[in-house]
Amino acid sequence: KTNQIKQLDQLGVIGQLAAGIAHEIRNPLTSIKGFVQLLAEETNHQFGEIITSEIERIEFIMNEFLILAKPQREIVFKKENVNTVVQEVISFMRPEAVLNNVEFVTKFNSFPFVNCEAKQIKQVIINLIKNAIEAMPRGGKLHIHTLSTEEGFVMIKVRDEGIGISKEHLQRLSEPFFTNKEKGTGLGLMISNKIIEDHKGSIEFFSELGKGTTVEIRLPLATDIGK
Ligand code: ADP
Ligand code: MG
Repeated sequence: KTNQIKQLDQLGVIGQLAAGIAHEIRNPLTSIKGFVQLLAEETNHQFGEIITSEIERIEFIMNEFLILAKPQREIVFKKENVNTVVQEVISFMRPEAVLNNVEFVTKFNSFPFVNCEAKQIKQVIINLIKNAIEAMPRGGKLHIHTLSTEEGFVMIKVRDEGIGISKEHLQRLSEPFFTNKEKGTGLGLMISNKIIEDHKGSIEFFSELGKGTTVEIRLPLATDIGK
């Protein structure tokens, strides 16, 4: 009935190599883009726009991928209220939700403090909200709950009423480049997994085709060690 899988991923040697290549490709790409734009302006050529938009797509994929490669020491953990972090993401995403007839339904538990880098946790929640919106092409409700568990975790639950994920696809969510969207990169969840793993948390997906998807993130409740 409900499919469940625990997602954990790590960037291995090959991944680091790929990140190095991605980084190296970025500079010549920027210069190619500049020259193509110049050329297209001068000759007024019809393919200028197509070439530019294809280059921009490569740039976008590179940038998403490079987020993964960020060395761990750049992470600065601070004690944060998860509710505040989630609220800020919701305000930021509201216009896109409204545009897609998606309504946020929220429930916040009190004092869910975690040690985290807020920017990164925001990135994860943005990825999940985007996926949820994209899973509801005709709109619907997007439920976001925060709660603390007896095991000492803060849980962030993101639930949509969208198309759902098949059992077969559920196993493949953390695979890089796994996507069934025309404009998808298949990197959002890989990035999210990595961030949650860096925070010593977990991320789980429950889904039923045609009914919707629930994502549960667990982050360790903050002790008073983090400031
Ligand atoms: P992208 O969104 O670029 O495709 P992601 O890594 O964010 O890449 O997601 C990978 C795939 O997982 C998506 O293409 C989609 O098939 C599936 N998926 C993720 N979240 C959901 C969701 N809430 N509902 C349905 N399918 C989802
Ligand atoms: Mg996505």
